[in-house]
Parts: sequence; C-alpha cells; structure tokens
Amino acid sequence: MIDLATFIRDVPDFPEPGIIFKDITPLLADSEAFTAALGAMAAPFDGVEVDVVVGIEARGFIFAAPLAQRFGAGFVPVRKPGKLPWQVNGHEYSLEYGTDRLEAHSDAIHPGDKVLVVDDVLATGGTGAAAVALVRELGGEVAGFSVLIELGFLGGRSKLPEVDVHTVVHYGAD
Ligand code: AMP
Repeated sequence: MIDLATFIRDVPDFPEPGIIFKDITPLLADSEAFTAALGAMAAPFDGVEVDVVVGIEARGFIFAAPLAQRFGAGFVPVRKPGKLPWQVNGHEYSLEYGTDRLEAHSDAIHPGDKVLVVDDVLATGGTGAAAVALVRELGGEVAGFSVLIELGFLGGRSKLPEVDVHTVVHYGAD
C-alpha cells in the first residue's frame, strides 16, 4: 500500500506566518500516488448514486473532475466571487478575519441531484460547509464530502454535522 502522506509536503509560514501549508504537488506529479489518492477518495462512495461532483476552487477541481468521470457524473465548479460568467447563487462564510464567498451557476445543479462535494483539504470546515449550503440552496441532495487531507486538530467536521465526510490522510485529532 502506498503511503500518500509521504507525497504531501509541509510548507511552513505559507501563505502567511503560522500556517503550515499542505503542498500536494508532489502527490499530483506521481502517477501512482495520484491514482491511489483518487481511488481512496472514491471508494467510500462506490455504489452510491452520484449525479454531480462539485469541485471547490481551486485544488478541489483537480480531484473532482476525474472523480466525476469515474462516477459517470457531471462536474460543477464552485468558485470564488466574480469568476463564473453566468447567473450565480452565492454563499458567504466566515474566515478567522472577515468573510469569504463561494458561488455556483444557478442552473448547474437540478432539484434532487445527488451531489458529491470534493476538495483537497478539510481545515476549519468553513469552505466545505459553505459549498454544502450552496448545493442545498440549488436543490441538490448532498451525497457526501470527499477530501484528500483532514487537519483534524482544527475540528472542521463539526461544521458538517449531517454530511457523510470521508478523508484519506489525517493529521492530528478527530
Ligand atoms: P477551511 O475552510 O478552513 O476548511 O479551509 C479549507 C480550504 O482552504 C481548502 O479549499 C484548502 O484548499 C485550503 N486550506 C486550508 N488550510 C490549508 C492548509 N494548511 N494547506 C493547504 N490548503 C489549505
């Protein structure tokens, strides 16, 4: 079994002091590790009905697109404000300082669609919770949230109480 953690590089103080950035580019650059990561992110949802895979900008896209192909599902990008060209729905969420916002095209998800949300890192959970809220606002049913890395010491899962959250590489408690 390949140890995916060995392909994730810790970069201290990026993008700002005090943050240890989880750099996944070594994992992406290794065909075997990338394939294993995708397999592990998909496995908990094998046999689950998935109509749409939502990827969260930007690194979520890298995993969400191949997972959509694997599930025979569509791919929908959830993006930072002002990036999507058509009509959008948006959801604000709190950061440590201030707020941010995620947007999706208003017609990207149809009522009743079973949606798998995908991202690279689950940290405080604000991003994932906002994406889940946006999917629900558009009428989608959240089939789950699949994430490569979980920073358990930040307790992000507590912001996703009714979501089937699966993560592959864990750091710290939770
Ligand atoms: P959060 O909303 O705190 O769960 O943060 C999750 C989002 O921020 C994800 O989209 C990640 O790409 C990014 N992120 C947060 N913390 C880190 C980290 N330590 N290393 C890399 N990306 C991170």
